[in-house]
Amino acid sequence: MGGTFDPVHHGHLVAASEAQAWFDLDEVVFVPTGEPWQKSHREVSPAEDRYLMTVIATASNPRFRVSRVDVDREGPTYTIDTLRDLAAELPGVELFFITGADALADIFSWRDAEELFSLAQFVGCTRPGTEVDPATLAAIPSDRVTMLEIPALAISSTDCRERQRQGRPVWYLVPDGVVQYIHKHRLYAASAARWDTPT
Ligand code: ATP
Ligand code: MG
Repeated sequence: MGGTFDPVHHGHLVAASEAQAWFDLDEVVFVPTGEPWQKSHREVSPAEDRYLMTVIATASNPRFRVSRVDVDREGPTYTIDTLRDLAAELPGVELFFITGADALADIFSWRDAEELFSLAQFVGCTRPGTEVDPATLAAIPSDRVTMLEIPALAISSTDCRERQRQGRPVWYLVPDGVVQYIHKHRLYAASAARWDTPT
């Protein structure tokens, strides 16, 4: 499962869990992006922070782990490189690339789209308020893409960052350890944020 994970939240975790159960996957590998070229219009937190928050969020699930392939690669992250690296690391393993329906809509802006489909099955997670353009869907080889409906969790990293900036709670939107990590490392201009533990 690829993502910026800035920060990782329960929408990501539920999507990963649904995909794991639906396809009976041995494991879900979370792959935080290195330098996200699609998000170059905003400041993204250091890759190491996003990586560590993802480790914290996934630590208790024996079927979840986090890969550093994108964090450790120089330069912007392209999904084709992620899949090539994972395929090399896990020879003979069937790969599923789990992503949001919004990301799937951009699929043809990705590098080497045709090779992508030869390396993995794609799983497009739908979330509230996101619809995939029917023309995009029609152009994607249907045997390589499955849309998976995720129980509605209107959580986004953007909203979590905004809440933190405004001193509104992020408790229960992200795992507790991630709330604590955000505060400890003062991510998302946390200076104004209140550090209230829920009662
Ligand atoms: P941002 O708001 O910064 O774009 P995000 O919440 O979309 O962050 P990403 O790191 O971009 O998080 O997410 C990785 C993938 O997970 C994306 O393709 C996204 O569509 C999907 N995703 C994020 N939140 C949810 C959710 N609540 N339900 C289902 N899928 C989600
Ligand atoms: Mg997003």
